[in-house]
Amino acid sequence: MKKVLKFGGTSVGSIERIQHVANIIKKERDAGNQIIAIVSAMSGKTNELIDLSNQISKKFDKRELDVLLSSGEQVTCALLTGALIDQNLNAKSWLNWQIPILTSGEHTNSRIINMNISKINEHLSRGGIAIVPGFQGISEKGEITTIGRGGSDATAVAFAKAFNADSCEIYTDVDGVFSSDPNKIPVAKKIDQISYDEMLELSSLGAKVMQPSAVQTAMMYNIPLEVKSTFTDRKGTKIFDQENIDYRKSVTGVAYSKDDAKITLIGVEDKPGVAANIFEPMNKAQINIDMVIQNISSDQKTTDVTFTIKRNDFLKAKEILENNKNISYKSLTHNDKVAKVSIVGAGMVSTPGVTYRMFKALADEKINILAISTSEIKLSVIIDEENTLNAIKKLHTIFELD
Ligand code: ADP
Ligand code: ASP
Ligand code: MG
Repeated sequence: MKKVLKFGGTSVGSIERIQHVANIIKKERDAGNQIIAIVSAMSGKTNELIDLSNQISKKFDKRELDVLLSSGEQVTCALLTGALIDQNLNAKSWLNWQIPILTSGEHTNSRIINMNISKINEHLSRGGIAIVPGFQGISEKGEITTIGRGGSDATAVAFAKAFNADSCEIYTDVDGVFSSDPNKIPVAKKIDQISYDEMLELSSLGAKVMQPSAVQTAMMYNIPLEVKSTFTDRKGTKIFDQENIDYRKSVTGVAYSKDDAKITLIGVEDKPGVAANIFEPMNKAQINIDMVIQNISSDQKTTDVTFTIKRNDFLKAKEILENNKNISYKSLTHNDKVAKVSIVGAGMVSTPGVTYRMFKALADEKINILAISTSEIKLSVIIDEENTLNAIKKLHTIFELD
């Protein structure tokens, strides 16, 4: 079998762990598999590099940032390959430009569009093991690029697709995908199987165990994924097409993100084009709007508009609203210490009352809901950040996930 194995930051976080990963690869190789291993930088390394760039300048050049950030994966790539060679295995590392892994898009946020598979395939067919750095590529102009935080997952999926691999295994520091973050909610349960749609919602809503764009690509090309632990032999979580999944539960998991902010414009004129006037400059400034609520005006003249954005866009958004002459309102209120808590489950479609049960549970905990958004298989609420853990625990219990 041809296998793509991806090892995350904690899995390659020390020399002992890299040696342990080498043993896993050796075992797979000895079992007769062809292996392409994708590695992350050692845990904490990418953050450390970002900190360094911030010490030079808060507006550090994006091209140079990509050169800097890609170095973390280069280190683990070489160390792991060296460890395999030391075990007398025919391993070889490739850097992004040597393959090459072609990307498009802007610096720090590119995506993989193509890669050359011939050299690596040749190496594999001669019994070799290929080690590749995750999270990066090279643009058409030959510039080094990175593909967004957590991007090694996307590298793994792109390789599984390009090489038509039989499996794509995501090795990480937990046993698989859980009903919520097992490091925050100790009673969280491992999920044996989950659909692409549910995984995409969970990861987009904050479960960082899989990067959303990696899940999206896997879904698009129907590439089954398996998330499992580098450190235990326990069975992991299989992510695949939803038809094969048995939904006994309405809710599969609870996710949260703590980096949201909420803005309310009070006394906005109630006439066509007003919402467009508010959101057009946001769009131009590349500020992503998440939820929007517009109250019905009692006097037919003015209304209140509430919306949520990522917290690191908050100051930029506030500045636009205060200075753009096309936007008028009576007053602006904001809360930049809010969190988004979401329940996700393909079973929600066929189970009535899920919405009520969620709202009732939060009310019982005296947690105020500041905004709501729904889709077929998810329900998200914005609440005060300090209530996050309490809300997740309560939802976890009432939807029988403990
Ligand atoms: P890696 O470095 O291996 O890519 P990440 O730190 O990106 O690992 O993702 C694994 C982490 O995701 C876990 O340590 C866990 O704290 C967190 N996590 C958040 N939500 C979930 C969830 N629903 N299931 C499993 N892990 C989760
Ligand atoms: N090292 C990168 C990050 O920390 C990519 C990854 O680990 O997937 O975001
Ligand atoms: Mg990750």
